[in-house]
Amino acid sequence: MATPRDRAPLAERVEELLSAGGPLAIVAAGDPVLRCGAEPFDGQLEPGLLARFLEAMRVTMHAAPGVGLAAPQVGVGLRLAVVEDPAPVPDEVRVARGRVPLPYRVLVNPSYEAAGPGRAAFYEGCLSVPGYQAVVARHTEVRLTGQDERGRAFDEVLSGWPARIVQHETDHLDGTLYLDRAEPRSLASNEAAALRWSQPTPEAAARELGFEFEPPAP
Ligand code: ZN
Repeated sequence: MATPRDRAPLAERVEELLSAGGPLAIVAAGDPVLRCGAEPFDGQLEPGLLARFLEAMRVTMHAAPGVGLAAPQVGVGLRLAVVEDPAPVPDEVRVARGRVPLPYRVLVNPSYEAAGPGRAAFYEGCLSVPGYQAVVARHTEVRLTGQDERGRAFDEVLSGWPARIVQHETDHLDGTLYLDRAEPRSLASNEAAALRWSQPTPEAAARELGFEFEPPAP
């Protein structure tokens, strides 16, 4: 448990970030805050400040735009994240990737574990690694536990793209970037990815860039 004296600097830092108004600045790879792991949230920000901070994170995620944002990505080392994916993709992509809409939600102290043997590999990107995408194999189903912004516990199984998003964001809180789990030879600029690798699966990218890709078992 942090004492009130320990808590002050984080709250002050958040107040300072919020004082500018508008979207928060996103921290890019290379900043240690993305690598050192975030501390569990246990009231370091009082409820009003927490609500204002989460709203600013949501605004920042929308402005980026992105489908998830973890507190370390705005320089705050607390286990907090926001996610939201309206999933505006063609049916073909929706089916191949399981990219179904994920309504806005807050993850407080989330953690996940595999909820089945399945893994799926797709291109993904990160607001803290601007300009690039790479293929990452992730669990297709995870059990996610944590709390919402009011402290109510959740324990549920997610699959498809929502499972990918919560794995990516929870990894941020552990100091892990998607590149740590990515297939290095799949690395593509956003331009190259849009031009060449927008197919529903990375099968063609694997063949032409030279990396292993195992289509999911039927
Ligand atoms: Zn990210």
